[in-house]
Amino acid sequence: MRIERIRVARVPLVLVSPLRTSDGAHQSRSAVLVEITDSDGYIGWGENVASSGVAYVGESAEASYAAMTQLLIPELVKHEVAVADLFADGWWGIAGQHFAKHALESALWDVHARRQEKSLAEVLGAVETEIEVGVVVGMHDSIDDVVAEVMMRVEEGYARVKVKIAPGHDVEVLAAVRDAVGVEYALQTDANGAYGADDIDLLCSLDKFALQFIEQPFAADDLDSHAELLHRSATSVCLDESVNTMSQLLNALDRGACDVVNIKPSRVGGIRDAIAMHDVLVGRGIDAWVGGMLESGIGRASCLAIAAMPGFTLTPDLSASARYFASDITRPFVLEDSLLRVPTGLGIGVEPLPEVLARQDVVIETLFQR
Ligand code: MG
Repeated sequence: MRIERIRVARVPLVLVSPLRTSDGAHQSRSAVLVEITDSDGYIGWGENVASSGVAYVGESAEASYAAMTQLLIPELVKHEVAVADLFADGWWGIAGQHFAKHALESALWDVHARRQEKSLAEVLGAVETEIEVGVVVGMHDSIDDVVAEVMMRVEEGYARVKVKIAPGHDVEVLAAVRDAVGVEYALQTDANGAYGADDIDLLCSLDKFALQFIEQPFAADDLDSHAELLHRSATSVCLDESVNTMSQLLNALDRGACDVVNIKPSRVGGIRDAIAMHDVLVGRGIDAWVGGMLESGIGRASCLAIAAMPGFTLTPDLSASARYFASDITRPFVLEDSLLRVPTGLGIGVEPLPEVLARQDVVIETLFQR
């Protein structure tokens, strides 16, 4: 396809409650939406979900925006584009910038699906029409507050909860949460890399809480500790921040560093790479699931289409809009009987509401016009 126009809309969003993790607190964010129109008039939307104020895999919202507008867009518009070729390590020699690439590339996938009069889910070979979803519970000052939020999420209908942990905020928290939810409930934990090799004994002691997995206990480059923990503990080990590229995924699998992988399309540089990783994980029989990055409805819609692919075997972190935002940019995603519906409309199946784009605090800029 040939690109006719690219616009960016910045939409301030207020989080209904801040999400605290071992590496910082998310208070609010501006959704950075990308609208791409092709030469036949098809329009697609993507979202740049790089976080502000929290360091996550080294790409801040500000740097990612600059890369998108100054590096990637000027190059992208020179070419006839096919999404099947848009691997993150391609892009005409521009390295890295995964969140920025994903924002543009996911808008192009939306266009690509609409051109075929299909939903993105259909184009991707999705097998589910609705998905049981999970929710993340961040850190709080007291254990009682963590338990209270967990129970609120359980009552809202979430099929599983993932509790954020960090050194000093772990064993007692998980004991209280497991006690509150009962032995059967699907419980996971995520440390965002906060532990070191000396903590392996402590992390093995979490086996007694029957967690579905421990996510990213150690630093992204510390595959040895992940492998040792997986070997010694009965609990599965899931990688998130360690897997940004296909070569990192293959290396982690070859070294036995995980038996579950969290695929965030934004972190891995786009939907094309997420599909390729999905296929590798299916081939190796490794469980995987789709992670979220506080997406608005735009990013959430494409993540749901991806999460409906057959190799994403575990509950994704893709909550209802109300988990994070008082009002969403698109029609809201609503939890029904623990399920979110995979959009079936053309492309990603949603678009920004006209009344949202008309708001005075929304800035819309045309970055390219042929
Ligand atoms: Mg994580």
